[in-house]
Amino acid sequence: MTTTLQVQERLIALGYKPGLADGIDGPKTREALKAFQRDKGVTADGIVGPRTIALLFPLTSSNPIASSIASTVILKQPEATRKITEIIVHCTATPEGREVSVDTIRSWHLANGWKDIGYHYVVALDGTVRPGRAEAQIGSHVAGHNSGTIGIVYVGGVAADGKTPKDTRTAAQKSALLDLAKALIAKYPAIKEVAGHNQYAAKACPSFDVRKDALGSLV
Ligand SMILES: [Zn+2]
Repeated sequence: MTTTLQVQERLIALGYKPGLADGIDGPKTREALKAFQRDKGVTADGIVGPRTIALLFPLTSSNPIASSIASTVILKQPEATRKITEIIVHCTATPEGREVSVDTIRSWHLANGWKDIGYHYVVALDGTVRPGRAEAQIGSHVAGHNSGTIGIVYVGGVAADGKTPKDTRTAAQKSALLDLAKALIAKYPAIKEVAGHNQYAAKACPSFDVRKDALGSLV
């Protein structure tokens, strides 16, 4: 957990003047924090929320959302105004080892008559996290569970035969999925669960049990 002293020291290092760095959350610290928030274009409420922490400590490894590639993608996205309580994990149901672009997935979903790609984030084979539908938009990825959720998908999920469900996540994808989920949880503290599509539908997707995976115990 980030302490008031760490926040004060960081504000001083960034050129804001919160007064004495004694770890006491006084009015000067609050004003310096608000000035920092205004400069960053976020709500100047003087509250050290997950997003403000991410902006204050963009390069520290102690911040769960700061050091990852995912965090830079996440922080660029305008925050959803609807309440986000859950992350739902999917696979593209494409053969192991075959890369699939965001545009390709988008074309499948447009062909369904949807307005855009259904998922909010796509994790490529090499672990690159790419934005899909904007977070601010309700996704289209689990029937009846779209409004309060963020849908994330990894490329893969079936064996080379193109049909047998298989957890094909590369080490880079496993790591990126965790980073992505942590970043989203930090951004949306109301998130209470990371679940798999197969917990809501009679489908294999995402071809593993999220509840038994490291993803399932993040919150
Ligand atoms: Zn799915």
